[in-house]
Amino acid sequence: AFAYPDFEPPMTFLRPDLNDLPAYRRPPEPEGGVRLHMNEAPTDWPPAARAALLERLARLPFHQYPERQGELTERLRRRMGAPEGGLLLGPSSGALLDLVAMAGLEPGDTVGIPDPGFSLYPLLVRRHGGRVRTVPVGEGLPLAPWFAALDCRQLWLTLPNNPTGAWIPPAELEPLLAAAAARPRPPLVVLDEAYAEFAPATHRLAVDRYPNLLLLRTFSKALASAAWRLGYLIGDPILVGKLAALQLPYSLPAASLEALDVALDFAAAFEATVRALPERRERLAAALPAHRAAPSEANFLLVSPDPADSLEAAGLKVRRLASADAARMTVGDEPATARVARALGGTLPPPAPRPRR
Ligand code: PMP
Repeated sequence: AFAYPDFEPPMTFLRPDLNDLPAYRRPPEPEGGVRLHMNEAPTDWPPAARAALLERLARLPFHQYPERQGELTERLRRRMGAPEGGLLLGPSSGALLDLVAMAGLEPGDTVGIPDPGFSLYPLLVRRHGGRVRTVPVGEGLPLAPWFAALDCRQLWLTLPNNPTGAWIPPAELEPLLAAAAARPRPPLVVLDEAYAEFAPATHRLAVDRYPNLLLLRTFSKALASAAWRLGYLIGDPILVGKLAALQLPYSLPAASLEALDVALDFAAAFEATVRALPERRERLAAALPAHRAAPSEANFLLVSPDPADSLEAAGLKVRRLASADAARMTVGDEPATARVARALGGTLPPPAPRPRR
């Protein structure tokens, strides 16, 4: 029946190396339940922010291409203290990492990625003909294995790491960045800071010193805007300019750009939620009688042995790890966190009283 007899079944128009590439694994999910499986923000936008955005959307011309990417890139660049031309917006941080892989990898180039790590990384590497080099990070984030991977074309570090929550401060990372930059052919180093707002500090300033470094950020976590698919990267303006030239035109929807603008208007409200989270995370970690949580600086905990059966039975959705007897759970709001502790046989103590001003 095929008009192309040269194609053997399964007939394909794909590159051979992409024929059997699996889709990003969205694990089978129970219906309903509290969403603690995607590292989303625990609560939606404040009503005033929501109203402000809806009002913008009501006035948005739907028949025109988005106009505001340049202007809003500039707003975010100033806020982040990035050099002129040194910030690029993208339709999610995942899409930007895909762009970085597309632009930087030749067939067979290796990319060092943490193991355990974000499950999207190996798929992005393979999409562009690259080869994955897993860098064992265990529960912590030891640097020796990264030093051993400096011959890779790109290194993708996640700070804090997903799914472990491990993080290291800028001063500790510095020797690795210096060693990478000193190589005859420096690897491009991506620091994925998807969860950095929850950590004690950002590695933002390192990109001002190393032209082979890109900082990757998202609006999906601390800024509670996963629905709008907004990410950005910061780096050397020459490199960022070339990446910008490779981005598809108008890749950020006008509605998402409006959402970005309003999210920044209301940043203080989101920051208050973020500031309260680590204390709740630590109370939860300490309240589990039969489980252990790995030390985390993110908005989630990696807990073992795998507590998913008990949690799902209690209507709480978490992410099971394929590679270990463990599950990753987002730190939700206070009631959800208390439910997690209860489902695992513990009691969440009340929050410590805030110091009076
Ligand atoms: N990096 C890491 C480490 C993540 O965990 C995630 C989200 N799970 C992302 C990037 C992707 O975020 P975005 O929604 O911007 O694609």
